[in-house]
Amino acid sequence: MNQPEAADPVPVSNSPDPTPERPLYDVLVVGAGIAGLSLAAAAARQGRSVLLVAARDTHPREFRAEKFSASEMAILDGCGLGVGARAVSTPLHTVIEGRWGRLIKRMASQEFAFHYPELVDAARAALPTAVTSVTGRISAAETGAETQTLTLADGRRYTGRLLVVATGLGEGLQRELGFERRLVSQGNTLVYGFNTAFSYALLAGEQLIWSAEAGGDGVAYLTLFPLGTQIRANLFTYWPRGGTAAEAFLADPAGTMRRLMPGLARTYGTVEPVGAIQQRPIDLVEITDPVRDGVVVIGDAFCTTCPAYGTGIRKALSDVTVLASLLPAWFATPGMDAAKIGSYYAHPEKLAADQRSVGVSLRLRRMAMGRDLVSRFLNLRSTVYRRGQQAVVDAAAKLRRGTHGASATNP
Ligand SMILES: Cc1cc2nc3c(=O)[nH]c(=O)nc-3n(C[C@H](O)[C@H](O)[C@H](O)COP(=O)(O)OP(=O)(O)OC[C@H]3O[C@@H](n4cnc5c(N)ncnc54)[C@H](O)[C@@H]3O)c2cc1C
Repeated sequence: MNQPEAADPVPVSNSPDPTPERPLYDVLVVGAGIAGLSLAAAAARQGRSVLLVAARDTHPREFRAEKFSASEMAILDGCGLGVGARAVSTPLHTVIEGRWGRLIKRMASQEFAFHYPELVDAARAALPTAVTSVTGRISAAETGAETQTLTLADGRRYTGRLLVVATGLGEGLQRELGFERRLVSQGNTLVYGFNTAFSYALLAGEQLIWSAEAGGDGVAYLTLFPLGTQIRANLFTYWPRGGTAAEAFLADPAGTMRRLMPGLARTYGTVEPVGAIQQRPIDLVEITDPVRDGVVVIGDAFCTTCPAYGTGIRKALSDVTVLASLLPAWFATPGMDAAKIGSYYAHPEKLAADQRSVGVSLRLRRMAMGRDLVSRFLNLRSTVYRRGQQAVVDAAAKLRRGTHGASATNP
């Protein structure tokens, strides 16, 4: 469990810390999302003293990632947070893939479905006691090659050797520290999440991933999966928020999905949303020039990716794994200068994970919008296939009609 604030070893007072130059913690982590929690837990497991600063006592009830794979759960297991995460997750064992308007594949695939705020709160409750948690708003941050200091709005001050910024999309601390964010792709993805009228039995333990049937319509795919007792739907699109396609979907979600995915409707029936439809536009942003003394930026705070291909949590946890692997060497020698910090951003695993996620995000968007040669070819192939399939269906129907007609005249 979290250490309660009462057990906080730092004096809680409005007066300045009398010995601010003495690092009290090895690691100060700001942000209690999946990245900050995992890093705090991983560092504590290495024997580091860790202070976690959260903005709130619980994660806001917002729409975020709702699935990840067994490899992400294995990383949480490695930090000691897996038991908590599993307790609020629905295990999925099979993925069924629909493409070009028909089922094409069914294969074993271990994943977990969850509501992100519940996942994060459960992980937070499972933090080791070696992590001291405090909740508050940071009013000032000073960083350097030896010591980092955070001051909260109520005057509490905390010092540490390393500051880890895991604040997701929150920009306040980044601005305070002088980081600049570059907008890579504004309104890159528009994601919808909703419960459906399907019964749980339809997909017990299985998830369906149904790709857009017509190319160039700005849809990536729809995924249906059991979450708790519901069949949940996530629709990933590249529509501009408030644009014609987005408005048409909100006005008639079931009809729009039937029109965009007629093969899905034929196979499973109409996808009828139940209750509120959550929607979230996502910008792709990244930090420019991140290397500086004493501070590391991880997870969405470093860069965001298109959620359609499940690279957000994977990339956040990959940041955690890379950083955790460097900590023993960093703490074995004095100081926390930019040379140490730079080795994190230059780590081959980090570079590969970043390139993969951002590259995939932009390429798949281009494909869904039908904006490059490869996607035009794939879209054409899909159209030819669909038209061919329809011609076969029509011919078979004509044949049946002909046969029935013949038998009617030949008693
Ligand atoms: C709609 C949607 C769907 C998505 N779907 C997927 C998906 O299917 N698969 C996938 O892998 N990824 C998906 N993602 C992305 C994924 O959710 C993120 O990549 C991941 O949650 C990032 O985790 P994080 O810890 O870096 O940031 P966050 O989870 O945002 O955590 C940051 C934390 O820092 C706190 N904070 C901010 N500022 C401060 C401050 N100054 N002081 C203290 N605390 C602060 C915030 O309150 C928050 O608790 C999706 C995202 C969205 C929006």
